[in-house]
Amino acid sequence: MDIRIGHGYDVHALAEGLPLWLGGVKIEHTKGCVAHSDGDVAIHAICDAMLGALALGDIGKLFPDTDAAYKGIDSKILLRRVCDVVAERGYSISNIDCTIAMQRPKLRPHIDTMRAVLAEVMGIEVDRVSVKATTTERLGFEGREEGVSTHAVVLLIKHV
Ligand code: MG
Repeated sequence: MDIRIGHGYDVHALAEGLPLWLGGVKIEHTKGCVAHSDGDVAIHAICDAMLGALALGDIGKLFPDTDAAYKGIDSKILLRRVCDVVAERGYSISNIDCTIAMQRPKLRPHIDTMRAVLAEVMGIEVDRVSVKATTTERLGFEGREEGVSTHAVVLLIKHV
């Protein structure tokens, strides 16, 4: 059995009046992520974790932000494509764990919806998808509500 671990980290700036997409879910808030895509920082970190596990670079390499094809794109489409890359190489997803750092709004009410949506897009059981959220106690750019960050780790398995 070949076991691969990957880590992903992503940050987006927040700006007033933009839609806020996190973990594939649209969340009501006064601010949203500034991005070429829909700015779903959680999905981007998860994609980078999977690509990292296979040493395939990052989503910026796969889906360049200079390419108009990805302007405003639903990040769930990017996630599905990354899952296809993982499957093409014979790996399956054992589990994913991610932590979203954001001061406001409280993300707890949205966590289980995010897990369900992510599991559906990735084609895995929901108990293999962990989403956690933390404030940063008003410290740093997340705490000042200037941006949002996400760390993700993933374990991939291939039976050989
Ligand atoms: Mg990103």
